Amino acid sequence: MKKIMTFGRYTKKRFGEKVYKIPISISGFTCPNIDGTVAIGGCTFCENDSFSPQLQKASPLDKSKKFYLNLQSVENPLLDQQLAQLQWQFQTLSKALKKSHNAKKFLVYFQSFTNTYAPLETLKALYEKALSFENVVGMSIGTRTDSITDETLAYLSQLAQKHEVWVEYGVQTLYDATLAKINRGHDSANIRSTIAKTKALGLNVCAHLIYGLPDEDASMMLHSLDETLNMGVDSIKIHPQYVVKKTALANSYTKGEFVPISLELYTQLLIESLKRIPATLIVQRISAGIENDSLLAPSWCYNKNSTMAHLRQALKANNIAY
Ligand code: SF4
Repeated sequence: MKKIMTFGRYTKKRFGEKVYKIPISISGFTCPNIDGTVAIGGCTFCENDSFSPQLQKASPLDKSKKFYLNLQSVENPLLDQQLAQLQWQFQTLSKALKKSHNAKKFLVYFQSFTNTYAPLETLKALYEKALSFENVVGMSIGTRTDSITDETLAYLSQLAQKHEVWVEYGVQTLYDATLAKINRGHDSANIRSTIAKTKALGLNVCAHLIYGLPDEDASMMLHSLDETLNMGVDSIKIHPQYVVKKTALANSYTKGEFVPISLELYTQLLIESLKRIPATLIVQRISAGIENDSLLAPSWCYNKNSTMAHLRQALKANNIAY
């Protein structure tokens, strides 16, 4: 039986106990393919509120101040509020995890939007605050390969001397035609060069891949996986393309132009993927779901628990333990 190195198994091995990720969503962050820098409208599948609407609604930030950061921002009038928001979210979620799971160690996960798309001074303030929280062993930063400067990478590599630091890149696919179709705003050459730079600095890289993107077949998805593994990434997250309301992809789906991936095909692809992935590589996610009425299709992405039970069983039947 091939035992996949899940993130839980990895952290138990590295820290002696499971480390819990605390997802953070900071207002004032956006993406260069939303704000017009490289495109407008964002990725065709993205309705960013679907990531963590509760977090942003509940945490303290004056929504009347419409301000968005970018790499050229010279000031950040929201910084104090963002720091308060970070603290509120961390405290609220870590407290709940302590109670429900007896969690003792945490990794702050900057999840929503592009979390390096801001001037370094803002990033330093947020990251250092995150690392100062009690029982935090490190952080994971979700971002795009076209939105992280050499200066930020160098700074992160310094932080990584003392803390667990992960950079999570949305790769999604290595096909330029698909990247253009989903309005990603960068190409595969950018993905390759940024991941190479990040790895050269010794940082941990986690790559996100999506199976079921428009007009991609099974061989293309597996090719993107192979190419991503060849880049020397440390970890992978794989998830199915699902359709969320109020997105460009929802329009294509409604018009019959986009057909979501079936559970059967996704399961087959996952089995093949996990056979190819080396046993030492960390697999942080093999599915994704959204349990609210913003999900349009496919319906199997609604209940993450039942999907995971199905996937685990299928993997087990193929001698893979996830
Ligand atoms: S980069 Fe991420 S947050 Fe930004 S539009 Fe694309 S999916 Fe949404």
